[in-house]
Amino acid sequence: MAESNGELSYEQLVDRYPGVPRFVILKLDVQRRGIGLTDRAWDAVQAPYYRHRESTTYGVRRDENSGRASPGPLLLRDGTTVLVSPGPGFGNTYTIDAVDGKFFIFDQGKQIDEVDFSPRPDYYGKKTSRGVPMESIASARPQRIDIQPYRHCHFWDTGDQCKYCAFFTDRIEQRQLDSGKIQKELNLDDIHETVKEALKEPGRFSQVNLTAGADYSGSEPFENEVNRYIAVLQAIGRNFTSRRFPSQLIAPAYTKKHIRRIYDETGLSSYCPDIEVWDERLFKWICPGKDKWVGRDNWIRATLEAVDIFGWGNVYTNMVAGVEMAQPHGFKTVDEALKSSFEGCEFFAKHGVQMLSLVWRPWGASEFRGLKQPPLEYYVRLVQGFHDIRKAYGLSPDNDDFKHCGNHGDSDLNRID
Ligand code: SF4
Repeated sequence: MAESNGELSYEQLVDRYPGVPRFVILKLDVQRRGIGLTDRAWDAVQAPYYRHRESTTYGVRRDENSGRASPGPLLLRDGTTVLVSPGPGFGNTYTIDAVDGKFFIFDQGKQIDEVDFSPRPDYYGKKTSRGVPMESIASARPQRIDIQPYRHCHFWDTGDQCKYCAFFTDRIEQRQLDSGKIQKELNLDDIHETVKEALKEPGRFSQVNLTAGADYSGSEPFENEVNRYIAVLQAIGRNFTSRRFPSQLIAPAYTKKHIRRIYDETGLSSYCPDIEVWDERLFKWICPGKDKWVGRDNWIRATLEAVDIFGWGNVYTNMVAGVEMAQPHGFKTVDEALKSSFEGCEFFAKHGVQMLSLVWRPWGASEFRGLKQPPLEYYVRLVQGFHDIRKAYGLSPDNDDFKHCGNHGDSDLNRID
């Protein structure tokens, strides 16, 4: 049965696209629509095994009514990770209920499947030698440590933020920043100690990820930010004996000189300057800060140059999938949107860059709040297309797959290759 809005439903798409596992299709739709928890489920995720942090960069990691801490990412039965937090969602949210010690996901009252949540990592609740809670230094996905060493994006200072962005808008986090309870710029020893402690949990983490708000200050644009990332990566790297450690830096597209310094002076293994949207006209509209401080042509050139330094397949770029259909200026049809994004993916693949997709969610704190998302079928076609294009060029996103990231439906497909 089709959805009431005429779009194909989850079940119909499972039948229509047998090459995309049903779990990946469910993941895409859950990310697109969001989840809500029943009261029983909220109670159940307060158990020590599940309880995660109380705040996040997006401000949705808790029950607004009771203050109950929310769980970590959702896990589907085949181990697929769904990075989604309970919140108002974007339309028809899925519901998670707790029944007899298990969790189940429902769509408008219909039970879809059994699900689970990622366990709380061992380092949460511990403090660094300076007395700083480690969970305020790094957050945990099922298999990845996420660190944001600088919690402010200066594109927002001038109204040039990316239009889909809701980073650093969490009210709890802002209050903690204002009161000095958490730091805007993280201390290097705190970072070193937190990663050291996190790595003690057997078999848990396979990747350290860094990203932050854009800071273009310095004697040349982004000089201070590059110096900061180098110092942070060196502090993390002291926990490893190998020259390179499994890691990714999601950051602006830097000059070749800066990228060379990051590679030579740290153990970073992959670099990811996110293009966000491939179409030139839409890039300027949607990412005015990136356009102003770097420019689309420079962004693309720097991304390709990074391959000379990090090597074929070790440079990534993400698109926020669906923003190219944001109105009033976006593409009007799914076919036009996919044609543009596939063109971008193939262009990058030819040059050894892996382009991946992330599901766009029109957060309430973003300029794109309330805008209509593309139908689920767009996302199913997109992840299949991205996977097939990369594969045709011999690329496998080993540094950004289900074991190292878990946020990309397209790299989930590498599990069935
Ligand atoms: S660069 Fe864009 S997406 Fe990243 S934090 Fe700044 S405004 Fe948000």
